[in-house]
Amino acid sequence: MGKLTVVGSIAYDTVETPFGKLERRFGGSAIYFSVSASLFTPVYMIGVVGDDFDLNFLKRLEKRRIDYQGVEIKKGEKTFFWKGRYEGDMNEAISECTELNAFQNFKPILKDIHKDTTYLFLANIDPQLQVDVLNQIEKPKIVICDTMNYWIKSKKDVLVELFKVVDGVILNEAELYMFLEESVQKKSINYLEAMEKLLNLGPKVVIVKKGCYGVDAMSREFFINLPAFLTKEVKDPTGAGDSFAGGIMGYLASKDLGLDKKSMARALAYGTVTASYNIEDFSIFKLYNITKKEIENRFRMLKQRIAL
Ligand code: AMP
Repeated sequence: MGKLTVVGSIAYDTVETPFGKLERRFGGSAIYFSVSASLFTPVYMIGVVGDDFDLNFLKRLEKRRIDYQGVEIKKGEKTFFWKGRYEGDMNEAISECTELNAFQNFKPILKDIHKDTTYLFLANIDPQLQVDVLNQIEKPKIVICDTMNYWIKSKKDVLVELFKVVDGVILNEAELYMFLEESVQKKSINYLEAMEKLLNLGPKVVIVKKGCYGVDAMSREFFINLPAFLTKEVKDPTGAGDSFAGGIMGYLASKDLGLDKKSMARALAYGTVTASYNIEDFSIFKLYNITKKEIENRFRMLKQRIAL
């Protein structure tokens, strides 16, 4: 079994979807990732919160095999806050407010327990912070990173450097085009060529999320296309990407697997399943109460749905 660590945002989110509005609920990329990945293997979480954060919540995470010794509590500061809304098919979040707060000047100093991490997920957060954490891990086996429009706009140069040294990059389709500076509407570049362009920047695998249209993964050896696990109950897509990544990394780390085609295909399917549970309710309400048995059920159903 590998050792899985994540760095990413730990947040209070206010989210509005056609199914309701919830204010200041637990969120952040590291939270969604950890709750999802811990269905497969223990997770070490690195991040920062302000002294307004409910510490009982972190204690509850411990019951789910999530270690939070790497979460700093900054006195006199506020926790990261994000406000977003979804409309129509809810495939894209509209960010209305992003307050970095405690993350603004966060300089992580990793503890010894983190340094022998073998599977590292650099969840969506300041790319410089992603680099700082990666540099402190002694011998990572697999490093995958995520990002979003906010960071592509403000710190693309750091992302370009990061993509050279990670094994995998996860983006959604709009972010892929934004990164390549192609118009999302006009898509003046073929989709596969766009993926190839990103692959040529350095990573071994590029994973592109397409919301309810599924996911694609491209490496120099393979191309995989997997549908989403469609459900009737879709209330809040926040964290879909992070819980998807949690399923991928949790599965790979639990079995000490690499990025070969078979392992990736199964990992993508587990990520698809964890994301499908996450979007059925707001915040982590649903995902927190899911069992491994339910994950395995949907994994089997997904295989049947592909009907090959
Ligand atoms: P996802 O829907 O998987 O892309 O992730 C949603 C989560 O990302 C929310 O819980 C937010 O708190 C968090 N988030 C939003 N904007 C940012 C940002 N600029 N950096 C890091 N995390 C963010």
